[in-house]
Amino acid sequence: MGRLDNKVAIITGGASGIGESMGDLFAQEGAIVIAADINEAALEKVSQKQNVYGMKLNVASDEDWQALAQEVNDRFGKIDILVNNAGISSEKPYEQINVEDWQKMLSINGFGPFAGMKHVAPYMAAQKKGSIINISSYTALIGQGFNHYSASKGAVRALSKAAATTFGRQGIRVNALFPGIIETPMTQALSTSKDLLDRLIQATPLQRLGQAIDIAQAALFLASDDSSYITGSELVIDGGYSAQ
Ligand code: NAD
Repeated sequence: MGRLDNKVAIITGGASGIGESMGDLFAQEGAIVIAADINEAALEKVSQKQNVYGMKLNVASDEDWQALAQEVNDRFGKIDILVNNAGISSEKPYEQINVEDWQKMLSINGFGPFAGMKHVAPYMAAQKKGSIINISSYTALIGQGFNHYSASKGAVRALSKAAATTFGRQGIRVNALFPGIIETPMTQALSTSKDLLDRLIQATPLQRLGQAIDIAQAALFLASDDSSYITGSELVIDGGYSAQ
Protein backbone atom coordinates (compact mmCIF):
# COMPACT_ATOMS: atom_id res chain seq x y z
CA MET A 1 0.00 0.00 0.00
CA GLY A 2 1.25 3.45 -0.90
CA ARG A 3 0.95 6.46 1.36
CA LEU A 4 -0.92 8.39 -1.36
CA ASP A 5 -3.05 5.65 -2.91
CA ASN A 6 -5.82 7.09 -5.14
CA LYS A 7 -4.91 10.69 -4.33
CA VAL A 8 -4.88 13.28 -7.11
CA ALA A 9 -1.95 15.67 -6.78
CA ILE A 10 -1.13 18.82 -8.75
CA ILE A 11 2.55 19.78 -8.57
CA THR A 12 3.50 23.07 -10.20
CA GLY A 13 6.98 23.26 -11.66
CA GLY A 14 6.63 19.48 -11.79
CA ALA A 15 8.82 19.11 -14.86
CA SER A 16 12.17 19.89 -13.23
CA GLY A 17 14.24 19.72 -10.05
CA ILE A 18 12.35 19.56 -6.77
CA GLY A 19 8.93 19.31 -8.46
CA GLU A 20 10.00 16.39 -10.65
CA SER A 21 11.41 14.55 -7.64
CA MET A 22 8.13 15.07 -5.76
CA GLY A 23 6.20 13.77 -8.77
CA ASP A 24 8.32 10.62 -8.89
CA LEU A 25 7.88 9.99 -5.17
CA PHE A 26 4.16 10.75 -5.08
CA ALA A 27 3.53 8.46 -8.08
CA GLN A 28 5.60 5.74 -6.43
CA GLU A 29 3.34 6.12 -3.36
CA GLY A 30 0.19 5.57 -5.43
CA ALA A 31 -0.87 9.09 -6.43
CA ILE A 32 -2.04 10.34 -9.81
CA VAL A 33 0.35 13.23 -10.44
CA ILE A 34 -0.40 16.26 -12.58
CA ALA A 35 2.91 17.94 -13.36
CA ALA A 36 1.85 21.48 -14.22
CA ASP A 37 4.59 23.53 -15.84
CA ILE A 38 5.28 26.24 -18.40
CA ASN A 39 8.10 24.28 -20.06
CA GLU A 40 6.44 22.12 -22.71
CA ALA A 41 9.55 20.17 -23.73
CA ALA A 42 10.24 19.20 -20.11
CA LEU A 43 6.57 18.29 -19.68
CA GLU A 44 6.77 15.84 -22.58
CA LYS A 45 9.66 14.12 -20.85
CA VAL A 46 7.94 13.72 -17.44
CA SER A 47 4.68 12.61 -19.10
CA GLN A 48 6.47 9.39 -20.13
CA LYS A 49 6.46 8.34 -16.48
CA GLN A 50 3.76 6.10 -15.12
CA ASN A 51 0.88 7.97 -13.45
CA VAL A 52 2.40 11.36 -14.27
CA TYR A 53 0.31 13.63 -16.52
CA GLY A 54 1.96 16.76 -17.87
CA MET A 55 -0.28 19.83 -18.25
CA LYS A 56 0.75 23.26 -19.44
CA LEU A 57 0.28 26.03 -16.86
CA ASN A 58 1.66 29.51 -16.41
CA VAL A 59 1.23 29.98 -12.66
CA ALA A 60 1.15 33.76 -13.12
CA SER A 61 -2.09 33.46 -15.13
CA ASP A 62 -5.41 33.50 -13.29
CA GLU A 63 -7.15 32.11 -16.42
CA ASP A 64 -4.67 29.23 -16.72
CA TRP A 65 -5.27 28.29 -13.09
CA GLN A 66 -9.03 28.35 -13.43
CA ALA A 67 -8.89 26.12 -16.52
CA LEU A 68 -6.34 23.71 -15.02
CA ALA A 69 -8.24 23.19 -11.75
CA GLN A 70 -11.46 22.52 -13.64
CA GLU A 71 -9.79 20.17 -16.13
CA VAL A 72 -8.09 18.13 -13.41
CA ASN A 73 -11.32 17.85 -11.44
CA ASP A 74 -13.34 16.89 -14.56
CA ARG A 75 -10.79 14.32 -15.68
CA PHE A 76 -9.78 12.73 -12.37
CA GLY A 77 -12.90 13.43 -10.28
CA LYS A 78 -11.26 15.39 -7.46
CA ILE A 79 -8.15 17.26 -6.28
CA ASP A 80 -6.54 16.07 -3.02
CA ILE A 81 -3.10 17.68 -3.04
CA LEU A 82 -1.63 20.91 -4.40
CA VAL A 83 2.08 21.67 -4.26
CA ASN A 84 2.88 25.25 -5.21
CA ASN A 85 6.48 24.66 -6.22
CA ALA A 86 7.03 26.49 -9.54
CA GLY A 87 9.33 29.44 -9.22
CA ILE A 88 12.09 31.52 -10.73
CA SER A 89 15.15 33.03 -9.09
CA SER A 90 17.52 35.85 -9.92
CA GLU A 91 21.09 36.83 -9.24
CA LYS A 92 20.68 40.53 -10.05
CA PRO A 93 22.34 42.79 -7.49
CA TYR A 94 19.78 44.96 -5.71
CA GLU A 95 21.03 48.17 -7.30
CA GLN A 96 19.91 46.85 -10.70
CA ILE A 97 16.47 45.52 -9.78
CA ASN A 98 13.74 47.57 -11.44
CA VAL A 99 9.96 47.52 -11.18
CA GLU A 100 9.58 45.11 -14.15
CA ASP A 101 11.95 42.62 -12.49
CA TRP A 102 9.99 43.00 -9.26
CA GLN A 103 6.61 42.51 -10.90
CA LYS A 104 7.69 39.45 -12.88
CA MET A 105 9.17 37.79 -9.78
CA LEU A 106 6.16 38.55 -7.60
CA SER A 107 3.74 37.46 -10.35
CA ILE A 108 5.29 34.01 -10.68
CA ASN A 109 6.52 33.33 -7.13
CA GLY A 110 3.82 35.26 -5.25
CA PHE A 111 0.62 35.46 -7.30
CA GLY A 112 1.23 31.92 -8.61
CA PRO A 113 0.74 30.14 -5.25
CA PHE A 114 -2.05 32.57 -4.31
CA ALA A 115 -4.00 31.90 -7.51
CA GLY A 116 -3.36 28.17 -7.16
CA MET A 117 -4.91 28.14 -3.69
CA LYS A 118 -7.78 30.37 -4.79
CA HIS A 119 -8.78 28.11 -7.68
CA VAL A 120 -8.06 24.69 -6.16
CA ALA A 121 -9.48 25.22 -2.65
CA PRO A 122 -13.15 25.09 -3.79
CA TYR A 123 -12.61 21.59 -5.23
CA MET A 124 -10.94 20.47 -1.99
CA ALA A 125 -13.70 22.10 0.07
CA ALA A 126 -16.27 20.07 -1.92
CA GLN A 127 -14.82 16.91 -0.36
CA LYS A 128 -14.01 18.66 2.95
CA LYS A 129 -10.41 17.56 2.67
CA GLY A 130 -7.18 18.63 1.02
CA SER A 131 -3.51 19.30 1.57
CA ILE A 132 -1.67 22.30 0.14
CA ILE A 133 2.10 22.59 0.37
CA ASN A 134 3.81 25.85 -0.55
CA ILE A 135 7.51 26.04 -1.33
CA SER A 136 9.09 29.11 0.23
CA SER A 137 12.87 29.37 0.86
CA TYR A 138 15.38 29.80 3.67
CA THR A 139 15.86 33.33 2.29
CA ALA A 140 12.43 34.19 3.72
CA LEU A 141 13.75 33.41 7.21
CA ILE A 142 17.19 35.03 7.46
CA GLY A 143 18.76 38.32 6.49
CA GLN A 144 20.25 37.14 3.21
CA GLY A 145 19.15 38.26 -0.22
CA PHE A 146 18.01 41.88 -0.25
CA ASN A 147 15.99 41.35 -3.40
CA HIS A 148 12.74 40.50 -5.13
CA TYR A 149 13.30 36.72 -4.72
CA SER A 150 13.40 36.90 -0.90
CA ALA A 151 10.39 39.23 -0.96
CA SER A 152 8.44 36.74 -3.07
CA LYS A 153 9.32 33.88 -0.72
CA GLY A 154 8.32 36.04 2.28
CA ALA A 155 4.98 36.49 0.56
CA VAL A 156 4.63 32.71 0.27
CA ARG A 157 5.35 32.37 3.98
CA ALA A 158 2.68 34.89 4.99
CA LEU A 159 0.12 33.55 2.53
CA SER A 160 0.58 30.00 3.79
CA LYS A 161 -0.28 30.94 7.37
CA ALA A 162 -3.24 33.03 6.26
CA ALA A 163 -4.52 30.27 3.98
CA ALA A 164 -4.26 27.71 6.80
CA THR A 165 -6.53 30.00 8.85
CA THR A 166 -8.89 30.73 5.97
CA PHE A 167 -9.34 27.16 4.76
CA GLY A 168 -8.97 25.08 7.95
CA ARG A 169 -12.69 24.92 8.63
CA GLN A 170 -13.19 23.46 5.17
CA GLY A 171 -10.85 20.59 6.01
CA ILE A 172 -7.98 21.99 3.96
CA ARG A 173 -4.50 21.95 5.47
CA VAL A 174 -1.81 24.41 4.31
CA ASN A 175 1.84 24.06 5.22
CA ALA A 176 5.07 25.60 3.97
CA LEU A 177 8.52 24.18 3.28
CA PHE A 178 11.72 26.22 3.48
CA PRO A 179 14.49 24.60 1.43
CA GLY A 180 18.10 25.65 1.81
CA ILE A 181 20.44 25.35 -1.16
CA ILE A 182 19.32 22.31 -3.13
CA GLU A 183 21.19 20.90 -6.12
CA THR A 184 18.74 21.34 -9.03
CA PRO A 185 18.79 22.90 -12.51
CA MET A 186 17.89 26.21 -10.78
CA THR A 187 21.02 26.28 -8.64
CA GLN A 188 23.17 24.78 -11.42
CA ALA A 189 22.21 27.75 -13.59
CA LEU A 190 23.57 30.19 -11.01
CA SER A 191 27.08 31.47 -11.44
CA THR A 192 27.99 30.14 -7.99
CA SER A 193 31.66 29.14 -8.08
CA LYS A 194 32.98 25.86 -6.75
CA ASP A 195 34.77 27.91 -4.11
CA LEU A 196 31.52 29.51 -2.91
CA LEU A 197 29.75 26.15 -2.86
CA ASP A 198 32.56 24.70 -0.74
CA ARG A 199 32.20 27.60 1.68
CA LEU A 200 28.43 27.08 1.84
CA ILE A 201 28.92 23.42 2.65
CA GLN A 202 31.42 24.35 5.36
CA ALA A 203 28.87 26.79 6.81
CA THR A 204 26.14 24.11 6.90
CA PRO A 205 25.97 22.07 10.13
CA LEU A 206 25.12 18.87 8.20
CA GLN A 207 28.06 19.55 5.84
CA ARG A 208 26.38 18.97 2.49
CA LEU A 209 24.07 20.63 -0.01
CA GLY A 210 20.45 19.51 -0.17
CA GLN A 211 19.02 17.15 -2.79
CA ALA A 212 15.58 17.38 -4.39
CA ILE A 213 14.56 14.15 -2.65
CA ASP A 214 15.17 15.81 0.76
CA ILE A 215 12.34 18.22 -0.04
CA ALA A 216 10.17 15.57 -1.72
CA GLN A 217 10.24 13.35 1.40
CA ALA A 218 8.98 16.22 3.58
CA ALA A 219 6.30 17.07 1.02
CA LEU A 220 5.17 13.42 1.01
CA PHE A 221 4.64 13.55 4.78
CA LEU A 222 2.64 16.79 4.56
CA ALA A 223 0.62 15.50 1.58
CA SER A 224 -0.28 12.24 3.29
CA ASP A 225 -2.78 11.56 6.07
CA ASP A 226 0.18 10.96 8.43
CA SER A 227 0.11 14.74 8.98
CA SER A 228 -3.67 15.08 9.31
CA TYR A 229 -3.47 17.39 12.38
CA ILE A 230 -0.73 19.63 10.94
CA THR A 231 -1.67 22.93 9.35
CA GLY A 232 -0.06 26.37 9.32
CA SER A 233 3.28 24.77 10.05
CA GLU A 234 6.71 25.68 8.70
CA LEU A 235 9.38 23.08 8.03
CA VAL A 236 12.94 24.21 7.35
CA ILE A 237 15.01 21.78 5.25
CA ASP A 238 18.44 23.34 5.00
CA GLY A 239 20.90 21.13 6.87
CA GLY A 240 20.76 23.55 9.79
CA TYR A 241 22.08 26.54 7.82
CA SER A 242 19.49 29.04 9.07
CA ALA A 243 19.51 27.67 12.63
CA GLN A 244 22.88 29.28 13.40
P1 NAD B 1 13.87 24.42 -11.27
O1 NAD B 1 14.25 25.62 -12.05
O2 NAD B 1 14.63 23.15 -11.45
O3 NAD B 1 12.32 24.10 -11.49
C1 NAD B 1 11.36 25.11 -11.49
C2 NAD B 1 10.24 24.71 -12.43
O4 NAD B 1 9.25 25.76 -12.41
C3 NAD B 1 10.70 24.55 -13.90
O5 NAD B 1 10.23 23.34 -14.44
C4 NAD B 1 10.06 25.75 -14.59
O6 NAD B 1 9.72 25.50 -15.97
C5 NAD B 1 8.83 25.97 -13.73
N1 NAD B 1 8.28 27.34 -13.89
C6 NAD B 1 8.95 28.51 -13.90
N2 NAD B 1 8.11 29.51 -14.14
C7 NAD B 1 6.88 28.98 -14.26
C8 NAD B 1 5.58 29.52 -14.51
N3 NAD B 1 5.40 30.84 -14.71
N4 NAD B 1 4.53 28.67 -14.57
C9 NAD B 1 4.70 27.32 -14.41
N5 NAD B 1 5.90 26.76 -14.19
C10 NAD B 1 6.97 27.58 -14.12
O7 NAD B 1 13.92 24.89 -9.74
P2 NAD B 1 13.94 24.09 -8.35
O8 NAD B 1 15.28 24.31 -7.75
O9 NAD B 1 13.40 22.73 -8.50
O10 NAD B 1 12.92 25.00 -7.53
C11 NAD B 1 11.61 24.61 -7.17
C12 NAD B 1 11.10 25.57 -6.11
O11 NAD B 1 11.92 25.49 -4.93
C13 NAD B 1 11.10 27.05 -6.52
O12 NAD B 1 9.95 27.70 -6.03
C14 NAD B 1 12.34 27.58 -5.84
O13 NAD B 1 12.28 28.97 -5.62
C15 NAD B 1 12.31 26.79 -4.54
N6 NAD B 1 13.61 26.73 -3.88
C16 NAD B 1 14.67 26.19 -4.50
C17 NAD B 1 15.91 26.17 -3.84
C18 NAD B 1 17.13 25.59 -4.48
O14 NAD B 1 18.23 25.76 -3.93
N7 NAD B 1 17.03 24.88 -5.59
C19 NAD B 1 16.02 26.74 -2.55
C20 NAD B 1 14.90 27.28 -1.94
C21 NAD B 1 13.68 27.28 -2.62
